[in-house]
Amino acid sequence: MASPKVLASVNLLVLRVSWRLPLTHYSSQTPTTADLERVVAACRELIETRFGGEPDYGVAAVLLGDGSILTGTSPDFPNPSTTVCHETEPYLAAFRLNQPILASLCLHRTEDDYFVALSPCGICQERLMMHGPDPFVGVPEPEDSTQVRWIRLDKMMPYYWQRVFD
Ligand SMILES: [Zn+2]
Repeated sequence: MASPKVLASVNLLVLRVSWRLPLTHYSSQTPTTADLERVVAACRELIETRFGGEPDYGVAAVLLGDGSILTGTSPDFPNPSTTVCHETEPYLAAFRLNQPILASLCLHRTEDDYFVALSPCGICQERLMMHGPDPFVGVPEPEDSTQVRWIRLDKMMPYYWQRVFD
């Protein structure tokens, strides 16, 4: 039986390989400004169509490599520990469709009827990293959170833990 140290090394190798496969598979593409505006519009449209005038709801939208946009949302489950991010639905669908994610945004409508951008949480950043360090993520402008600023994922994760394997 292999020692725990050997097993840990093997596990790290598997993790490393599984992480790198998408990076070699997906080509780096830069979305246009119009594409990114479509992502914002898709979020706003889903909030309007799914939740009507109800405040305090959020959704997500992603731009795929083929130019299509996927949206998603998640309920507040009765047991809060089972809650998932709004990004989860389009992230999983992108994998099903074998499409790279070029941009990702989460938008939330506040009680005051403002649409504010929510930066991807740490878990979503981790999930998005399988699409490489290049995807754009929507973050709030520092002075006005109703305005979306698009930045590269690697700008959010300058010390990403797998960098030591590069
Ligand atoms: Zn998240």
